[in-house]
This record gives sequence, structure tokens and C-alpha cells, in this order.
Amino acid sequence: MSRTLAVVGAGTKAVAVAAKAAELRDMGVEAPDVVAVEKTGVAANWQADGGWTDGQHRLGTSPEKDVGFPYRSNLVPRRNAELDERMTRHSWQQYLISTGQFAEWVDRGRPAPTHRRWSQYLRWVAGNIDMSVVTGEVQSISVDTGADGHRWQLHTADQTVEADGLMITGPGQPERSILPGNPRVLSIAQFWHRAAQHELISAERVAVIGGGETAASMLNELFRHRVSTITVISPQVTLFTRGEGYFENALFSDPTGWTSLTMAERRDALMRTDRGVFSARVQDALLADDRIRHLRGRVAHAVARDGRIRLTLSTIKGGESLETVHGFDLVIDGSGADALWFVPLLAQDALDVLELGLGGPLTGESLQEAIGDDLALTDVSPKLFLPGLAGLTQGPGFPNLSCLGLLSDRILGADLSGAPHSSTSRRGHEHQPIR
Ligand SMILES: Cc1cc2nc3c(=O)[nH]c(=O)nc-3n(C[C@H](O)[C@H](O)[C@H](O)COP(=O)(O)OP(=O)(O)OC[C@H]3O[C@@H](n4cnc5c(N)ncnc54)[C@H](O)[C@@H]3O)c2cc1C
Repeated sequence: MSRTLAVVGAGTKAVAVAAKAAELRDMGVEAPDVVAVEKTGVAANWQADGGWTDGQHRLGTSPEKDVGFPYRSNLVPRRNAELDERMTRHSWQQYLISTGQFAEWVDRGRPAPTHRRWSQYLRWVAGNIDMSVVTGEVQSISVDTGADGHRWQLHTADQTVEADGLMITGPGQPERSILPGNPRVLSIAQFWHRAAQHELISAERVAVIGGGETAASMLNELFRHRVSTITVISPQVTLFTRGEGYFENALFSDPTGWTSLTMAERRDALMRTDRGVFSARVQDALLADDRIRHLRGRVAHAVARDGRIRLTLSTIKGGESLETVHGFDLVIDGSGADALWFVPLLAQDALDVLELGLGGPLTGESLQEAIGDDLALTDVSPKLFLPGLAGLTQGPGFPNLSCLGLLSDRILGADLSGAPHSSTSRRGHEHQPIR
């Protein structure tokens, strides 16, 4: 019986998984039907419509880390080389060759593509495989307990998609704002909407709430606007730079050995390389600019007063919680970037299934710790794949673009039959521990 894997969002991960599933089927190998439910369009988050970019900024990682990277499939015994060869038909370089851009890209020194060009690449892949995309915003997720076992149900405004497995993708909701409707507070989407309209922001003191890739992109844009100071607010001790040498990159491309590290070692590696960390390119370009500062803390409260936005920040110092208040002329709220953004979509029956599998309350920590080799929650049936939260247990490359070919292997290797404790993998062999 053919199984269905539904994906919330037709973004990078959905395209990568759908492409490999299509190639497996062409090889006569069983693979689930991959159906993406997408609110805007394929690869929308890399275009201005998605609210995360104006499309003009450049990809941080190399485009050769495409939907098949690292081309080391481990799904079909004795035919993995054939699968990898087939996946090269969906590579970044093949896209450039097919669209007559390859020579120019090489001659220009293989530059990082703009987000818009990256979205065009992903749409090209989706078109090649005739990807199945249902248009609609997933508004709630429930579980159907029918005679055939448990299945996911994804509800949009006008239809319901049923599936044996579910993968959640995307960074969150860019429309979120701490003071909705206040013109001095912009959500991520409002900020990028303005940038795409070429509206110049003019303000004395600007705050950007949140660290990481989202803030980095916004800083990159803000830099050219008329602002006197930019304060980046994040809970980290400082704004770290990601070293992009071989050893760090390799950790992202190849998680072999990750699971043999202790949890403390993994958390340490994630803090140094991932969360709230700016790429060296961003650090070089921006943080040398003396308009940019960092303020440590979490925004507990925001209020508009006397033509300014006052943010109350809470920090832990010496074990004690400390609150401080800071005033800004403009606040850009980057807190919509949230790996747990989907939790409010879960209906009570879905929450019950998750909490039963987790053996306790659903928290960010309990979800992360329960993610198994197949990037799904262990002991939860039907399967729920959460690659965005898989960094801690499976490797730092799974939430991002670092190893999409490994991600699709892990997900397509999972058993969607709903058998109890079906965290088994059908992959050829397991990873070897670090020696
Ligand atoms: C500005 C920016 C730059 C980045 N640059 C890099 C980079 O250079 N390298 C890197 O490795 N990572 C980068 N990232 C991280 C990036 O988010 C991930 O690497 C990758 O795009 C995630 O792929 P995805 O498939 O999970 O989500 P996405 O590609 O973001 O796709 C999610 C899709 O879900 C849709 N969607 C959201 N909610 C719903 C809903 N309720 N119903 C239906 N559809 C919905 C969206 O419209 C979107 O199309 C960047 C992130 C941002 C925000």
C-alpha cells in the first residue's frame, strides 16, 4: 500500500524529499507520495512574498549544498550510486546548465546566489518532478483514529489532507509582532515588505530583537538605511561569529559521530556554530560598523510611550533575574523565527498523541530530545518529522541547507506503516561512531 508523507510548506526540505522520492519511484523502489501543503508558493520564503527576505540578499551557504548534497545516499542497497547519479539531475549546477547560466556563474567566481535566484532553482526542481503541492495555509493539525490506524489530518480553510507521516518545515511566522499595529514596531514581514518597496527607514535608535540568520539578513539590509544606532537584542552573551573552516563545515555536512558526543558537547557545539551566531561574512561587513551594538537579554514586555517604544529586558545575572528598560525609536521584532511555531496548530488529539509518545508534557526540550535517527519523534505514531528541531540529537546540518540529501535519506528511510515503536530505519547501514 502506498503511503503518504505530507509536508507543511513547499520549501527547501519538501523539494529535497519530493525529488528523492520521485527518483526512487523511477527506479522502481517503493517511496511515499510526498504532498506539500503550501500557503504561498513553492520556495516562497526565499522571495519577497514569504516575508523573510526581499529576495535580493545572498545565500549564506554555498549553492552546491543543493537538494542532493552530499550525494552519499544510503537507502537502496547496491543502487545508491545510481540514486546519487539521478539526484545530480536536480543539482544547482544542472539548473545553471539547463538555464544557460553556468559559464557566467563560473566566470564570475561562483558567487552565492540571491535568495530569489535560489527560489528559482527550487522551483525548477519542483517543476522537473511535477511536485504535488496543495495550496492553502495549514490552520490546524489533528489525528484521525480510523480502522487503518492513526493518520495525520492537515486542515486548511477549505480542505483536509490526510497522511501517514507529517513533516513540519520553515522558520516560523514572520508576521509576529510584540506590539501589532504600532507603526514603530515592525514584524520581520513588515520590515522586508518595506525593503522590497525601496522605502528608506529613517530613525535614530533602532532595535532588532533576535539573533541568528534572520537578524543577520535584516542587519545586512538596515545597514544602508538612515539609522544612527542599531541594537541587536538576544539572550546570548555576545554575538558570536561562526568559523567557516573545514572542521565546522564538515560538522554540518556530515553528522557522522554526532550521536556519540555527550549532550553537553553537542549543546556546546550548537552554541558555537548555530544559535544566535552570525556568519563571518556578516560579521566582517557589519559588525565592524560602530553603529551596531549588542544587548543581552530577553524582551519581557514592550510599551509605547512618549513617541518611543520601551522594551523591558530580563537577564539572569549571578543566578538572579534582572529587569532593565530601554527606549527605541523603531523596533524590528525578529522573534517570529521560532522552531516551535507549529505547536499552536496542534489540536488536542494531536497533542495527546505527542505527549503519550514523549511520556510527559510537550516542551521545546522534550521534543528536541525525542528526535530519533529518522528525524521523527521516537515512540510517536503516526510519524512526525521535525528536522527543524533535529540539530541537538542528529546533527547541526538538519535544520538548515547543509545536508539536504542526508535529510531526505533519513525521512524516506522511515517506516510510515504506523507500527508501534516504528523508529526503525531501512537504510543500508548505520553511521560509524567517531574513532
Ligand atoms: C533570511 C534567511 C536566510 C537564510 N539563509 C540560509 C543559508 O544561507 N543557509 C542555510 O543553510 N540556511 C539559511 N536559512 C535557514 C533556512 O530557513 C533553512 O535553511 C531552510 O530554508 C529551511 O527550509 P525549510 O524547507 O524548512 O523551510 P522554507 O524553505 O522556509 O519553507 C517553508 C515553507 O512553509 C510555508 N508555510 C509556513 N507556514 C505554513 C502553513 N501554516 N501552511 C502552509 N505553508 C506554510 C512557507 O510559505 C514556506 O514556503 C536562512 C533563513 C532565513 C530566514
